[in-house]
Amino acid sequence: MNTQDTIIALSTPPGSGAIGVIRLSGPDAIRLTNDVFAGKDLEKQASHTLHFGLIKDGDQLIDEVVAGLFVAPKSYTKENVVEISCHGSNYIIQQIINLLISKGARAAKPGEFTLRAFLNGAFDLSQAEAVADLIASNSKASHDVAMQQMRGGFANELKGLREQLIHFASMIELELDFAEEDVEFANRDQLRNLVTKINYVLQRLISSFELGNVIKNGVPIVIAGKPNVGKSTLLNALLNEERAIVSDIAGTTRDTIEDELNIGGIVFRFIDTAGIRDTADIIEALGVERTLEKMKQAKLIIYMADASQTVAELEEQVRGLVKLEIPYLILLNKVDLLAAEQRSAFAALGVVFISARDKVGIDELKITLLEQVNLHHINTSETLVTNIRHVEALKQTENALQRVLENVDNPVTSDFLAMDIKQALHYLGEITGTVTTDDLLENIFTKFCIGK
Ligand code: GDP
Repeated sequence: MNTQDTIIALSTPPGSGAIGVIRLSGPDAIRLTNDVFAGKDLEKQASHTLHFGLIKDGDQLIDEVVAGLFVAPKSYTKENVVEISCHGSNYIIQQIINLLISKGARAAKPGEFTLRAFLNGAFDLSQAEAVADLIASNSKASHDVAMQQMRGGFANELKGLREQLIHFASMIELELDFAEEDVEFANRDQLRNLVTKINYVLQRLISSFELGNVIKNGVPIVIAGKPNVGKSTLLNALLNEERAIVSDIAGTTRDTIEDELNIGGIVFRFIDTAGIRDTADIIEALGVERTLEKMKQAKLIIYMADASQTVAELEEQVRGLVKLEIPYLILLNKVDLLAAEQRSAFAALGVVFISARDKVGIDELKITLLEQVNLHHINTSETLVTNIRHVEALKQTENALQRVLENVDNPVTSDFLAMDIKQALHYLGEITGTVTTDDLLENIFTKFCIGK
């Protein structure tokens, strides 16, 4: 991929808006813009300044714009960057981009600005990935985690460990050079301590993924229960909109429903459970492989019953629920129909009383949901791994270091020791991008949007 030319793309979302921002990056960014800009001579202006002017194609006026200048290396990409704020019409945006391409700019590929920032050392790979996460973040928790990673939290944690390992790798290499003399440069006790310490950090990071993933992608939840107990009504009450079809006819909710809800800064994602909704008996549902698989994705099952059944019937259903081995929460809907004396018997089962239709108990339900998934006291200032690629690399590192621990006291295996330490370094390097391949970079950056 050419990284020496000047790239251009729209950085705001396509479609009309009050303004659109077109970004150029590369050695000729300022000169090319200057070619079509009527106003001050942009090549003579200081970095980090804004300039009003006209964009003209020959005699034809395209728009009145503001050009922001960032002179290398003080820019996002560390190259010359110009951000042209124009009126947000698709036509104007296309005209300006086409004009600058005709002058020598090239249309940027997805994520190419951030790729250049990475290649030019503005940040490491895990930070570049965090930029994408930050753009995609849709809750306070996912925003906090992405922001922490983008500012280098995760990378810094790995950097120190990596440097200490590199030291040992070179000591052991040295030993191999002096193989006949039977010397020991790398102190085995210190190496064992270091590896144990690193493994401890790795394990913490690896196990943080469960939480990190949930924060990034939402807590998957299933709402299950017999037809007509009020599942769709609840979903509507939670989402505060009438999206799911509510009806009196049992089993009419067949459409795919996957919705997201932000409760207390955590995103809950409702898994499509059309199959489960229509299955009268949850034990019966156990037999349906596909349905079961769906249920297994859930971190929590909201099992809903209503006032029309007896306590004994509900107890029977709960026994089926327990077999799934997934945390669950039992809701008793339609409290408006529940006689006061029935209430205590149901309460003994630990149910949460609600009326989905009258929106009674919904706030309490939200609090209970947060408590159930145990996320209400998450500490997002702690490093959390949110990226499956990072977890895989961390696990590989841990495996290699485990082999180091196994061989550390065996004098015959110094070669293996050196090899395994190098392996561990390789995988750690993959996370931060010290070790990269074109495939890896392409894989990561093509998932970005164009203009980022
Ligand atoms: P689903 O089949 O479980 O999705 O049930 P629906 O949400 O379609 O609700 C079935 C019926 O129960 C509808 O007529 C709802 O209006 C009614 N319903 C839902 N919640 C309540 C409630 O809190 N009280 C009463 N009395 N009726 C409710």
